[in-house]
Amino acid sequence: MATEGLITKKATVAFSHLGCEKNRVDTEHMLGLLAEAGYGVSADEADANVVVVNTCSFIQDARTESVRTLVELAEQGKQIVIAGCLAQHFQEELLEALPEARAIVGTGDYQHIVEVLERVEAGERVNRVSAVPTYVADEHLPRYRTSSEAVAFLKVAEGCDYRCAFCIIPKLRGDQRSRTIESIVAEAEQLAAQGVKELILISQITTNYGLDLYGKPQLAELLRALGAVDIPWIRVHYAYPTGLTPEVLAAYREVANVLPYLDLPLQHSHPDLLRAMNRPWQKGVNTELINRIRMQLPDAVMRTTFIVGFPGETEAHFEHLLQFVQEQRFDHVGVFCFSSEDGTAAASLPDQVPNAVAEERRGRLMEIQQQISAECNAAWVGRIVDVLIEQENPSNGELIGRCLRFAPDVDGEVRVQRSANGAGASPGSMVPVLITAASEYDLTGEVVGIDAMVNAERRI
Ligand code: SF4
Repeated sequence: MATEGLITKKATVAFSHLGCEKNRVDTEHMLGLLAEAGYGVSADEADANVVVVNTCSFIQDARTESVRTLVELAEQGKQIVIAGCLAQHFQEELLEALPEARAIVGTGDYQHIVEVLERVEAGERVNRVSAVPTYVADEHLPRYRTSSEAVAFLKVAEGCDYRCAFCIIPKLRGDQRSRTIESIVAEAEQLAAQGVKELILISQITTNYGLDLYGKPQLAELLRALGAVDIPWIRVHYAYPTGLTPEVLAAYREVANVLPYLDLPLQHSHPDLLRAMNRPWQKGVNTELINRIRMQLPDAVMRTTFIVGFPGETEAHFEHLLQFVQEQRFDHVGVFCFSSEDGTAAASLPDQVPNAVAEERRGRLMEIQQQISAECNAAWVGRIVDVLIEQENPSNGELIGRCLRFAPDVDGEVRVQRSANGAGASPGSMVPVLITAASEYDLTGEVVGIDAMVNAERRI
């Protein structure tokens, strides 16, 4: 085996992070483990002997970006460890295709990163990909957070038990494995002690949290347990409508720090399409279902995502979706064109829809939603809301943050003008803001009396 270019002992390691927030949490654990083991950790790839690329393989575009990153690093002569979904997906093939790759690490194997680097340092090319991804949830696992200090993502489960026809995630991440409530609360308390103001619970289907571990979903119990943790905002991602039971919605209403923000990845409205997609609620995501949720959580801010151009989607199916979106008036909508993935059931379905048609439908849907989003945002003008400040523009002192209406990265932001009351406002602080203007994506406002008003209108 060639030995030139081997990593020197206790190398400096940089990370290139791609993909979703679940991947981000894995990256943060790998960083923490390596730092604890005495490796140098650098934010700059130029300083590093080795770069760990935590890859995404969700759709073709994500794979292309992951491969581009790997090739660029290889061209710079970096030694590469490939972690995450691409490693799980292609395994040995990746080592064969990329001589600069020193190791591959599967989605359930990130906790072994120190051992992997030690073996690499000893001259091995390492394949550390478990065929069935494991999930070792451990609140004691070191973690080096990379998001803003005030925001932390907390993984409550890994994997998914459903088999949606378009989705490769169960193949890459395995079936659902939940953490215990005690483990999640323990980590939330650690994050609270670090000054975290917003905790974002993530998994594939957070409404199914606990089913594998306790025999029935336990999201309501989890939210009530987290209510005792000193973190002002708890946001839940990926609430599936069928899992929003009266008990779960009661927890949203009654636990003061749980935000009434529902991220519902509906994907389509038409029963034919939902059946073809093998979604769990094939009878249709209908007005009755959404109305029940709205009645039980009247303040809910609703985000959803849809896929257009799924095989077999006719113009009539798409019109059904357009009408549903016009009726439902969601606060935020993401629209994706179907991406055919090898290894999924949808790849071999008949009646594939041409890309141009899918793109055209995406444009029509987004155009309708823009108007709705603008109107929903406009309804917030005149309200006083808590805003978590995340950035400050040094040139004009303008502050940028989010109120409960906006989740990080996917929704809009609140631009906050400093006023006489805003002297104490800085990144990481939560301040009351009077909303003075709105556009289709963002809000604008000014800080109002800090002492009297903090938490004045955390709920809408
Ligand atoms: S619910 Fe469906 S789309 Fe979501 S992760 Fe599971 S299989 Fe994929």
